[in-house]
Amino acid sequence: MAYLTLKNVNKIYPNGFHAVHDFNMEAEKGEFIVFVGPSGCGKSTTLRMIAGLEDISKGEFLIDGEVANTWSPRDREVAMVFQSYALYPNMSVYDNLAFGLSLQGVDEDVIDERVQKTARLLGLTDYLDRMPRALSGGQRQRVAVGRSIIRKVGIFLMDEPLSNLDAKQRVTMRSEITQIHRETGATTIYVTHDQTEAMTMADRIVIMKDGYVQQVGTPKEVYFNPCNMFVAGFIGEPPMNFVRRRVENGCIRIGGDVLDVAWKLGDRAAEYEGREIVLGFRPEAVEMNGSDGAYTLCGNVELTEMLGDSANVYVDMDGEKVILKVTPHEMPRMDEDVRFHIPKGSIYLFDAVTETVI
Ligand code: ATP
Repeated sequence: MAYLTLKNVNKIYPNGFHAVHDFNMEAEKGEFIVFVGPSGCGKSTTLRMIAGLEDISKGEFLIDGEVANTWSPRDREVAMVFQSYALYPNMSVYDNLAFGLSLQGVDEDVIDERVQKTARLLGLTDYLDRMPRALSGGQRQRVAVGRSIIRKVGIFLMDEPLSNLDAKQRVTMRSEITQIHRETGATTIYVTHDQTEAMTMADRIVIMKDGYVQQVGTPKEVYFNPCNMFVAGFIGEPPMNFVRRRVENGCIRIGGDVLDVAWKLGDRAAEYEGREIVLGFRPEAVEMNGSDGAYTLCGNVELTEMLGDSANVYVDMDGEKVILKVTPHEMPRMDEDVRFHIPKGSIYLFDAVTETVI
């Protein structure tokens, strides 16, 4: 049985705004689940319903098989880290970590043992006597994480905990949080709008848009088998290229090139004949040097971006703009006419109306 279950969970705010629609998900004990999606898609609302900070308007939330809709946050045994980590400014790191346990009347010796252990886990041992103002942003965020994990909880909820940190600190904290998760084994739900954080940290990702779950899957599943254009475009950097064309005789035409799509449409080829479809391919899937069975396309290089380990190449194909991600030594010159290939296995087709994968 799953540890956490959300069954058709909805949130309708008192002003009538329907923020979350029929959210369904199961999380196994110890799983690391990431909710990802653009601003306003309902990630925090769902997290707050799990925490017990927000009522569930419709649907069921179960913990270990028991309906927990009306349980208090305390009974749910959750710990939460927010974007803004308000530490107590007049207390040392040690006291910030110890405070919650002191309130619960936990024994001094036990508190000390847990503070020391948490500090070791988070690399804060040398900072226990410091006041928060004498810490860097990353160190402060670590204290905030420490304050949550020092209580032994089954469910760990994090709402954009890294968004106040700079890019370098974010990368460090990302791996630290993954490490802490491995050591504590708490079922974790982590909210972010950053697809890189989602891909690198999650066991499974829940991708949301406009209050609806679009897809739930492992990072590999959502990258290689996106269910629709939104997921395909949201996961991956630079995003997947989309080219909209009408199917004629089982083919689409891009510039001077004719691509056979009938094999990919399979049984549905007749259904799509004469209709528009969207061809999708990832920038990193292209090959500048041809190979058997690859689709070939031509275009003119408008812009190149050298990134060191790779290069982004912006290509204009008769008015259709696409991005290619190539190795630095494959990088063409500006204004050069290029031919590039897409391996057949890297081709995606989407219904132009429903935007779902074909
Ligand atoms: P962000 O990444 O910007 O934090 P999010 O995906 O977490 O976004 P939510 O904070 O869950 O989004 O908000 C979802 C939607 O619900 C938004 O359109 C928001 O304006 C709306 N909303 C949030 N709180 C309330 C409220 N108390 N009353 C009415 N609408 C609300």
